[in-house]
This record gives sequence, structure tokens and C-alpha cells, in this order.
Amino acid sequence: MLDLLLVNGFAYIDERYQKVNIGISGERISYIGKLTPEAKRVIDVHHNRILPGFIDPHVHFALYCGTVTSRDDFVSGSRSAIYGGVTTIVDFLDPSRNAKELVETYNKRLAEAKGCNVDYHFHACIKEPNGDLEEYVLKMKDLGINTVKLFTTYSETHRRTYDEDIKKLLKLSRKYKFLVCAHIEKDDMIMHDKVLTYKNLPDARSSAAETIEAMKLCEMAVKTKGKLYMVHCSSGHTLESIVTTYGKYIGKNIFIESCPQYFIFNKEVLKKDNGYLYTFAPPLRSEVERRKMCKYFDYLSSIGTDHCSFNKADKESHPLLEGHPLGVGGIETSFLAMYEMFGEKVIAKMCQNTAKIQRFKYKNGIKLKNYADLVIMSSDPQVVNKPHGDADYSIYEGMHLSNKIVSTIARGKFVLKDDKFYPHAGKLLKCEMRRL
Ligand SMILES: [Zn+2]
Repeated sequence: MLDLLLVNGFAYIDERYQKVNIGISGERISYIGKLTPEAKRVIDVHHNRILPGFIDPHVHFALYCGTVTSRDDFVSGSRSAIYGGVTTIVDFLDPSRNAKELVETYNKRLAEAKGCNVDYHFHACIKEPNGDLEEYVLKMKDLGINTVKLFTTYSETHRRTYDEDIKKLLKLSRKYKFLVCAHIEKDDMIMHDKVLTYKNLPDARSSAAETIEAMKLCEMAVKTKGKLYMVHCSSGHTLESIVTTYGKYIGKNIFIESCPQYFIFNKEVLKKDNGYLYTFAPPLRSEVERRKMCKYFDYLSSIGTDHCSFNKADKESHPLLEGHPLGVGGIETSFLAMYEMFGEKVIAKMCQNTAKIQRFKYKNGIKLKNYADLVIMSSDPQVVNKPHGDADYSIYEGMHLSNKIVSTIARGKFVLKDDKFYPHAGKLLKCEMRRL
């Protein structure tokens, strides 16, 4: 007998809505069809749409940024995620320089992730490597991790990885089939003048600094036949340049992630009285660039949020760029806000593509044997309110949305049902290590 049967829903399967009933046994989907097999519990979905649970490949919970720690930890951040239909998150280990430090950062972050309400995983993160890179990669694989993030910038805080090591990592990524995730900005083009305030952010971290460095790394990826995953692409010029020059390598050697904020806002909001609430790195760009992001949307591999939330006072009390906490929350609104703009094609970029890129087994959509991670969406309009995490604001507050996530199911259990949240024990995911 099934544990749960969802009836009268339109499930998004094989890129279209199908009127089927979905049966769940334990944590998995065990029935998809027109019949109504016996179940301990039958839930009428009332003709709402059923979508796969979303995977956010880019979150920062409980991240110390030099002056304050981000407001959402794994408990509150994952609660917010559930309200947004996100049932799997990928956070980052602290940057490490060698295999020994990698293990230490893994154990530390694993302890911090206790209480996470959704399934979770980590990207390894490297800085100023001082050990054998191959040993680092093999240790990462041992830990069940298939992605390592590096920064081409932040030399001032000793987090940069330099070109020679990036090339080595890309070569290793070909040999060992993993992804080199890169935060891409040209380090010597970043302005660090002590008089700069948050209003100077778009100039201090310019669009050109992203584009120039991205083109260099794409060339490296193509020449080494490695696998490069560009995180949080912010600039329409960058995306257009990559598509124009390296379009045929996208999805093979080059993968590009972007975040909702770069499609919804432009840098003009920083001029508002409360402009300090919209600060993150890379920063918002011009309206021309925002439109280009939308134009080339189809070339993106995935959508992540870069969720790193702060309170209003955290931002307001540090107006100078030095010490200003960069980052915003967004995990609760990411899907609906992007769906509003791009419709169903957002779904694959927030589920199947990421499951494939990360090599998460049984996470790629509504299929038999997959984990029963499901989202029930109604077409009730809503105005975005305060988020359900611990931060006291969201940049999406006041936004009008045409749909609403009414329920979220994680591994077969309702974690959100008719607006009520039910705590859940998320599990640590390990990547499948077969070839990409
Ligand atoms: Zn980030």
C-alpha cells in the first residue's frame, strides 16, 4: 500500500503538465498514472500544478563576512527555502589550501549544517593552494564532492587562486570529471579605495572586470578541455560575450549559473534612500545589461540564489564598502520570481540541470524511484511579504506574483502544507562519481 497519493493534480513531467496521480512510498515516488491505488493517505491537490522540488546550487548559510554573520543559518535558511519550494541546497565549505585543511573545513561545515530542514551538500572551496592539487581533488572525491569553487579575486583577504593553479585544476577536472566553479572578477580591476561606499559598488566591481576575466577562464577551459562552472554571472555583457565566442562549449566545457537578482533589478536601485539593502558581489548592473541577461537566458545552465541574508541594520551600519556585508536573501522567492518572467523553462534550470551537473541521484524531476521532492503551486496571486527565515527584509518584498507555493513535500513528507511549516531532517547528499 502507498503511504501517500496525490490526486487531481497536473504534474510537470517530460516538460509538460499531465493529469496524473502521484503515489509515494517512504521517501520515493512509487506510482505515476491515472489509477487510484490504495494509499494510507489521499490528498486532493484541487487541480493545482505539481512541480519537482527545486535545487539551489548556491547558498551561504551562517557565513561570517568580516563584520557580521549572515542572518540565516542552516535551520532558518532551509525553512525559508521550503516556503520557496526548494528541497535541496548546496552550500560552501570554508576556503582551504590543501587536502588536510579540506577535511577540516568539511567537518566544521557538517557540524554547522545540523538541523537543516532540506537535503544539503557542499562545494569544496580552495584558496591560495599550497599543497598537491591532485591530492586535494582525490580527497574531495573521497568526501563525495564533485565541485570545487575558487575565486579569481579577493587577493586582499588571501582567497584568490592564481592562473597557473586554475589551469592545473581545469586539467584535473578533465581527468577526474569534476567541475571547477569560479567566482570570476579580474582582481586588479577591483577598486579598494577606503572612501568608497555601497553606492560605488557597480564601479568598484565593474561589469568589465567580470567579462574580461570570464573570457580568459573560458579560453582556459576550452584549451585544457576542462570543466568550468561560472557562478553568479551578473553581467549581460559577460553572458553575451561567452555565448558569442564560446557558445558551442556551453553545456560541455562551460556551465553558467546566474541569480534572480540580476534579472529583476538594475543598479539604479542603489541610488534609492534604502539602496544599501541591495548590495552583493558581483553587484547589480545597468538596465541594458539586465535586458541582455534576459535575452540570453536560454544559455544558462542553472539558477542559484547566492542566498546570504542580512538585517537592514547590518547593512545600514556599515555604509563604507570596507566592512559592508555583501549579500541578500532570496531563496524563498527565487522560483516564483523567475517563473513570473520566464515560465516553465525555469524549472529545468532549478532542478534537472542542477541534479545532472552536481550528479545528484534520484533528484532529477518527477520520475518513478526519484525522491518524492514535490511542490504544489496554485495560481493565487500574492504580494511578497517578509521572508520566513531570520532576516528582517527581502529585496523582493512588495513584488506582485501570479502564483503561490501552497505545499512542499521533501522525501515524501509534507514540510509545508497550506502555509504551515513542518520541521524536517534534511539529509547530507553525496555525489554519484560516475562520468559526467
Ligand atoms: Zn556566493
